[in-house]
Amino acid sequence: MIKRIKKAAVIGSGIMGSGIAAHLANIGIPVLLLDIVPHELNDDEKKNGLSLSDKVVRNRIATSAIQSLTKQKPAPLTIQENSKLIEAGNLEDDLPNISEVDWVIEVVVENLDVKKKVFTEIDKYRKQGSIISSNTSGISVEAMAEGRSEDFRQHFLGTHFFNPPRYLKLLEVIPTKDTAEEVLSFMKKFGEDILGKGVVEAKDTPNFIANRIGTYGLLITVKEMLKSGYSVGEIDSVTGPLIGRPKSATFRTLDVVGLDTFAHVANNVYEQVEGKEKEVFEIPAFMSKMLDNNWLGSKSGQGFYKKE
Ligand code: NAD
Repeated sequence: MIKRIKKAAVIGSGIMGSGIAAHLANIGIPVLLLDIVPHELNDDEKKNGLSLSDKVVRNRIATSAIQSLTKQKPAPLTIQENSKLIEAGNLEDDLPNISEVDWVIEVVVENLDVKKKVFTEIDKYRKQGSIISSNTSGISVEAMAEGRSEDFRQHFLGTHFFNPPRYLKLLEVIPTKDTAEEVLSFMKKFGEDILGKGVVEAKDTPNFIANRIGTYGLLITVKEMLKSGYSVGEIDSVTGPLIGRPKSATFRTLDVVGLDTFAHVANNVYEQVEGKEKEVFEIPAFMSKMLDNNWLGSKSGQGFYKKE
């Protein structure tokens, strides 16, 4: 019987993983934040004579994510002090430590094969009876649970936070056919009472509810309005400040989400629909070019806007 989450692990320390870890730390829950081991030394590491086997290098991705939590605007942490509740690690050395946690949240890239590999590893070390969830934007949770142990399947569900997790209220909770009723009801209550979210139970359909609608709207706006000759700035004014949404305009939203993640999310639906809807969910050619040039949005410093 699950009573409370005393400690959590977040796997993947990118935009969403770091934001979710911060949200948990803000409510006093200690978090283990794990990411992959870097393949190359960065310039500072080379200058300081470090090697790829040094722990500080192996933990670099999650460590830098924690450091950046206090610098981002809007800030994911309520106070800087909360960062002490987040412990950085890497997936090769530290995954066995997830045996101490009550909830493991997977927040790695939006790719089913990558996520399934991560779940195979998680299944080796997680505590029996602990909850495991995915922050996927729209990949089938049933497909992610396939092949996993019975205890894993009973304790597995989608918990889809929105970006930025500290500020956006919605949490979609997506059970599979095997998710235990007790796990689903615990997560819905925990989401409302402890995480402070508005929880909606969604079906396991492509992109669930909010992203099925949101991705459609964004792609229609991007394709049709640019074709009509409006500029990025004009479209952002009309879909942002002029209708009372100070920042969340079309192209700014795409920069915040990350164009790579957005393309994966649109593709989740593209691959599963037919006809007119398929046309809508196809990423426009200019966006593919931006991706080829690593114009991913805020995370790479350049998207539709250059990061100040
Ligand atoms: P991100 O690109 O910022 O971070 C992804 C993280 O995954 C990186 O830290 C990367 O090092 C790690 N990673 C890459 N390859 C890996 C591997 N093979 N094994 C383990 N880790 C690996 O992405 P994000 O925006 O944080 O998205 C993460 C998840 O959250 C995705 O499923 C995405 O669809 C979902 N999501 C994103 C948003 C958004 O607005 N960006 C919103 C809601 C949900």
